[in-house]
Amino acid sequence: MTQPNHIITRDNHTVSRKEISDNALKVLYRLSKAGYEAFLVGGGVRDILLGLHPKDFDIATNATPEQIRKLFRNSRIIGRRFKLVHILFGRDMIEVATFRAHCDQNIEQASEGMIIRDNVYGDIEEDAERRDFTVNALYYNIKDFSVHDYCGGLTDLRKRQLRMIGDAETRYREDPVRMLRAIRLATKLDLTIEPNTLDPIAKLAPLLEQVPAARLWEEYRKMFLSGKGLATFKALQQHELLQKLFPVTEHLLHEHPDFEAFIESALINTDKRLAEDKTVNPAFLIAVMLWQPLLEQAHRMETKGVNFNDAFFKSMGKVLGKQSQHIAIPRRYGLIIRDIWALQLRLPQRRGKKVWSILEHPRFRAAYDFLVLRAEADPSLREVADWWTKFQDADKDTQRSMLPKRKRRQPKRRKKPKN
Ligand code: ATP
Ligand code: MG
Repeated sequence: MTQPNHIITRDNHTVSRKEISDNALKVLYRLSKAGYEAFLVGGGVRDILLGLHPKDFDIATNATPEQIRKLFRNSRIIGRRFKLVHILFGRDMIEVATFRAHCDQNIEQASEGMIIRDNVYGDIEEDAERRDFTVNALYYNIKDFSVHDYCGGLTDLRKRQLRMIGDAETRYREDPVRMLRAIRLATKLDLTIEPNTLDPIAKLAPLLEQVPAARLWEEYRKMFLSGKGLATFKALQQHELLQKLFPVTEHLLHEHPDFEAFIESALINTDKRLAEDKTVNPAFLIAVMLWQPLLEQAHRMETKGVNFNDAFFKSMGKVLGKQSQHIAIPRRYGLIIRDIWALQLRLPQRRGKKVWSILEHPRFRAAYDFLVLRAEADPSLREVADWWTKFQDADKDTQRSMLPKRKRRQPKRRKKPKN
């Protein structure tokens, strides 16, 4: 049987079920058995074709959210404008989306309650066209294990290039986050951004200011905590997007090469931890990025006559507040950032009881790591950093010997009674 040329049969591509998680397969099969079309799509297919091992799987189907919901007890419908279904398997989650019509304007123009189903849902081809890059619009069909390619994604993958579907400028205007996705995916996958896809970014970068700060928090996490943080940071700098995400930080980088070195060390460290499958806290890097802004703010207050400690603590809120206008930092992470910063003032004071309370502080480890990174850029901090390196792992006796000897109180001299 001949196939239309956008369908690549199972023997002619490298997507195999072995690379797809059991949970994603379960979802695909159940949808298919119930008579719906079911495709793996997006990063999952793309990464397998590139020889990587994806962890995240997105599924597209012609079943409506309500129909999907009925098939999976462990599922919930999310989103208002465009509903998606999240199917939960313990800590794992599979996102299932109904094929979506490509004309986003239909959705934007209709007032919320009035969206007509036909406007929102479409067929697979329309669904492909409203995705961002061609390499993200490849569909793996669970029914016959073929790959559907409506936008030339396979050719682009072979050329190792990232190309926007449709007119790049229009697509960035529709959703400016696509600019960040272009940089992130090109860096992550080592793809070249095709010239027409790259060109409009310099001009359109200011559009990022209109993106809700909460959405940029999610994007920040993906950009910096996916194992290629340093490369992404540099690419963002190169394409002048960093200043839209961390404006104060970016501004200070020019004046303080040490600060740039500090950020880069932190990113190298984060990438290394992720490569070793260790956890990373998204608060840590924000604390790093805002360290120089915090110091500058505190010094400004100090010149107005506030003492340094007060200025430092007052500046924390100011700096976090300013940054949150661009990237919304969830409260619990804001608290961690403050703890890491506050401990920077306490760590150099190594006296008596204070040392033990610092050691037991839930953020000690993060604050210590932060100090070690600072010491890399500033030799005057090395002694304190080394002291803590030794102290935290030492046995009790050594620890006691490292602390300053407590001075015996001199017995108070009795005042001579006046005669
Ligand atoms: P990764 O999971 O590796 O970060 P991904 O491409 O899978 O990359 P997701 O955010 O999981 O990224 O999105 C899944 C798919 O949804 C994408 O591959 C793409 O087809 C589509 N998509 C995501 N964001 C957008 C967007 N802003 N505009 C258009 N399509 C998008
Ligand atoms: Mg994905």
